[in-house]
Amino acid sequence: MAGSSTTWPSGSVARLNRQASRQAEVALAAYASLPEKSRGRRVPEAPAPDRNAFQRDRDRIVHSTAFRRLVYKTQVFLNHEGDLFRTRLTHSLEVAQLARSMARGLRLHEDLVEALALAHDLGHTPFGHAGQDALDACMKSHGGFEHNLQSLRVVDVLEQRYPDFDGLNLSFETREGILKHCSARVARHMESLEPGGVAHRFVAGYQPSLEAQLCNLADEIAYNAHDVDDGVRSGLITLSQLMSLRLVRHFHDEAVRDHPGLPGMGRRRLLSEVLRRMLSAQVHDLMATTRARLARARPADAWQARQGPALVAFSPSMRESITELKRFLFRALYRHDQVVAQTQRGKTVVHELFEVYAAQPAEMPAEYAQRSDVHRAAADYVAGMTDRFAMREHERLTGRRLFG
Ligand code: MG
Repeated sequence: MAGSSTTWPSGSVARLNRQASRQAEVALAAYASLPEKSRGRRVPEAPAPDRNAFQRDRDRIVHSTAFRRLVYKTQVFLNHEGDLFRTRLTHSLEVAQLARSMARGLRLHEDLVEALALAHDLGHTPFGHAGQDALDACMKSHGGFEHNLQSLRVVDVLEQRYPDFDGLNLSFETREGILKHCSARVARHMESLEPGGVAHRFVAGYQPSLEAQLCNLADEIAYNAHDVDDGVRSGLITLSQLMSLRLVRHFHDEAVRDHPGLPGMGRRRLLSEVLRRMLSAQVHDLMATTRARLARARPADAWQARQGPALVAFSPSMRESITELKRFLFRALYRHDQVVAQTQRGKTVVHELFEVYAAQPAEMPAEYAQRSDVHRAAADYVAGMTDRFAMREHERLTGRRLFG
């Protein structure tokens, strides 16, 4: 039995971890982002003993409040419409899984990719893009609202969990990758606050890290596939409609050729097999195209890889097929009457909540009510809400119930 003299083998575990992480890093490509070359954190911190800087970022993101709220935020279908639809949380996990396996194949830094994937939607409002559009309209004369910028605000400012700083104090590379897009106006403003900082690439015109590029395309692969899946599950789109798309038709025919009994085994199984093949084809296309581009460009390091055109990419023909699929989803699903009717209600909720809080800040929790910029406080508060909390709060403040 273990006596009081027993010690946990922490020394040897730590040594094994260090060996494992060194081995992992030996296998990284020259153009991978390296945590030991990180530009650091805004508030300097001692390195963690057994985790690299990007692992630590990933862990902080997973433990954040904003991350937990993603489970109750809409992707396309409102969270309460069904238990099987994707939410922002399951979407983020799917993106992380895709991005990590591609990162391993391309010898990029998996931990950075994972941190970026898990954080990429933290700034999304309730009710999906409709909520973001509504909040942007509310904030039109108060600096606007952009969800990528909001994701950065969440990790830089809004999470309050640490004694020494606001936000999560993430590494520069993670913060920079989170800021996927921003308008020229916002980029110039951010550059004035943090010269050479996370918005510098939008002003100076260079690419995000290869890890960030990969994460953006993994996001696209994930949502195209799962929106088709959820769209068919909801009954708003059908497989026969989808057969007009070359990507779907090709993999449907291939799947049926390989498994002639498949069409008789139920629509779900057939659709799953088509989607699985489509997803693999996009992953393999991206990996092959990216490898060829890297071989041509031969970047000596992560910084050189960011000059010139983006190196992580689909082939032109795959890009064309994906564009066709996206156009279809836009027309047939995102603009479907039923989806629009729901998101319209979401917009109303966001808009009216914002109006109430801006006029009566005391209706917000103290940490928001006490801020001097009441509009930004209201936008931050509303943006952080889950769908169902926003609905409840809207009913409390207006006495109207917009959702069944
Ligand atoms: Mg996303």
